[in-house]
Amino acid sequence: MNPAEAPTGHIRLTSHPGSRGPVRFPIDWNAGGNAGADGRGPVIATVNSGSHRNAIGAHGGSYSIYRALAISSGAMSASSKPDLHDTSPVCEIGPHPQWSEAGKIVSLDPWGHRVAQDFGSLIEEGIDIRPSIAITKARLTLPEIREAIAAGRMAVDGEIVHEAGDISVTKIAIDPVWWLPGVAERFEVSENSLRRCLFEQTGGMYPELVTRPDLSVFLPPIGGMTLYIMGDPAYLGDTSRMLTCRVHDECNGSDVFGSDICTCRPYLTHGIEEATRQAQAGGVGLIVYNRKEGRALGEVTKFLVYNARKRQPGGDQASTYFERTECVAGVQDARFQQLMPDVIHWLGIRRIDRFVSMSNMKHDALTEGGIEIGERVPIPDDMVPADASVEMEAKKAAGYFTPEAPPTAAELSKTVGRELGKF
Ligand SMILES: [Zn+2]
Repeated sequence: MNPAEAPTGHIRLTSHPGSRGPVRFPIDWNAGGNAGADGRGPVIATVNSGSHRNAIGAHGGSYSIYRALAISSGAMSASSKPDLHDTSPVCEIGPHPQWSEAGKIVSLDPWGHRVAQDFGSLIEEGIDIRPSIAITKARLTLPEIREAIAAGRMAVDGEIVHEAGDISVTKIAIDPVWWLPGVAERFEVSENSLRRCLFEQTGGMYPELVTRPDLSVFLPPIGGMTLYIMGDPAYLGDTSRMLTCRVHDECNGSDVFGSDICTCRPYLTHGIEEATRQAQAGGVGLIVYNRKEGRALGEVTKFLVYNARKRQPGGDQASTYFERTECVAGVQDARFQQLMPDVIHWLGIRRIDRFVSMSNMKHDALTEGGIEIGERVPIPDDMVPADASVEMEAKKAAGYFTPEAPPTAAELSKTVGRELGKF
């Protein structure tokens, strides 16, 4: 049999509510009190789960497409199921009261890392329930941290920071799991119009968005996030321990390759340094890394914007920074911080003592979500690359947190970056 073919050989384009009788595993997303994982119910999104399937979309975020390629090419069987033996989390996260507080978490499955433990007997029975969160350990080796040690800003303690300058961390990967009524509420749109837009703007990729109003959970084909925790993860929801946190949105060009047009990597490594020092002082540090490349517009759009910025009359000026993005992308920013606080709630956090970010959008999203923020920690001026001052000054003028007065219009038009011919 061609591995791409369904066992029955025919393709069901879509399904309709009630066409297969009562659902065995309903999802009660807001099951409150002590309902636990059983009360909420397992999220079953595997496409070969038949009538047990109670979610739209597929596991793995954007990687679901690669799985399709693997099956299409015959490299993988469509009926393959993961062996979850020995894959359990290296530490406990939750359950926290926030997990069942209505509307607090709508874009990830709070029980996603506990699947093997909470639904073990169902998995043994053959029900294909998969984790959407995994928790492991790592060592980070960063030249900036070695420099911080050499400069005397950080010390080697042998437990969190080691002799060679590497840092012990716990890291958590999270795939997106959206509860559509809650996502619609965050964006202040109707669930119907959200479902319709998701259906239409993906070229009709998920017909169940419009044919199955009884299915409220959607696993979107987008990137998720990674968390890096310095110190004991059990301290995260403990308000007697100081927490330093940076929420960082992916910027491959700077984060990985050191491109100097923005402050992303310097701010990220500054955040790692601050978070690590907090852990060394008996508190805990947290880095949230969101896969939202180029303000969630993607690198192609981002590079087009760079060219448009550098080639405009008068050169790359802070005064026209946002305008140039909007001309190309149609929007200044598509990161939509409305969903970002979910992960903070998931970790049981109610207060961030030191927030290593200047973004007013991130700050406002967290405080509106009920998270208290103590000190806001800006990036030190000497860490901002020269060409990145265009972005930094434009953002300060647009409401970014800055201890000084924001730049004036005259100052903005004087902040000009490198020309294309000088790279
Ligand atoms: Zn960047």
